[in-house]
Amino acid sequence: MIRFGPSGNSESFYNQGYKSSVQMPAWLKSMGLNAYEYQCSKGVNVGEATARSIGEEAAKNDIYLSIHAPYYINLASEQEEKRINSKQYIIQTLTCAKWMGAKRVVVHTGSYRKVDKKWALDMAKKVMKEVLEEAREKGLDDIIICPEVLGKQNQLGSLEEIIEICKIDERLLPTVDFGHIHARNLGSLNSTEDFQAIFEKIEKELGYFRLKYLHCHFSRIEFTKGGEKKHWTLDDLQFGPEFEHLAKALHIKRMEPVIICESNANMAEDALKMKEIYESLAEGDKG
Ligand SMILES: [Zn+2]
Repeated sequence: MIRFGPSGNSESFYNQGYKSSVQMPAWLKSMGLNAYEYQCSKGVNVGEATARSIGEEAAKNDIYLSIHAPYYINLASEQEEKRINSKQYIIQTLTCAKWMGAKRVVVHTGSYRKVDKKWALDMAKKVMKEVLEEAREKGLDDIIICPEVLGKQNQLGSLEEIIEICKIDERLLPTVDFGHIHARNLGSLNSTEDFQAIFEKIEKELGYFRLKYLHCHFSRIEFTKGGEKKHWTLDDLQFGPEFEHLAKALHIKRMEPVIICESNANMAEDALKMKEIYESLAEGDKG
């Protein structure tokens, strides 16, 4: 089963008078969604009691939880102190995931604005190994860390780099952000075959199991020559990629990923549209 849900809370959630993420799981279920990526992208600021309440609501409403770790993590910083802090931010996010019962933590691995690309990748792999070791010691190793493919060319996180990082341990699962791939490669995803090529690469390098249960982000995206500029909604037709191509590729491969919609403002509404597109395609195929 493919699960669909939003990244963070839609504008409409607040417009309808809701205030707390504890109310999100029931709200999402009432819409027909079944996943939710909780945002710690600006820092892990949620307390244990709130995190546990969100987790209880998610379990009650069958909402699959993941958490997005802070954006400022950089496993490949040229400064050792920043690398050490980055490890702690991941451990903090894993701890929060434990409270919530979240199964996956999405991590941006870093940037190579100031360092050599090869050095950055090697350093990120080394630091990620240390994170996995510390997670094991702290009993946090049942939560899957999902390094994310990033949209700017100066970020450590091409699809190939994320695959390399995931090779160090079977507990690592890529977060494939298709908008980011499209932006980073200046508009590369234009057909079902373009998505299939990504899946072939992941399957060849990491095996079918990790491909099947992939963590995915999707939104239409605007880019410049440096890559990602801005996330848009499904109605902003002037920006790619098209979800229909992804839906077809997922169906052909019999995949069961978690798909998190990162549209601007309307992420829950767009997640539902994506779910409907996928389901009508899968249903039509049965006939
Ligand atoms: Zn991200």
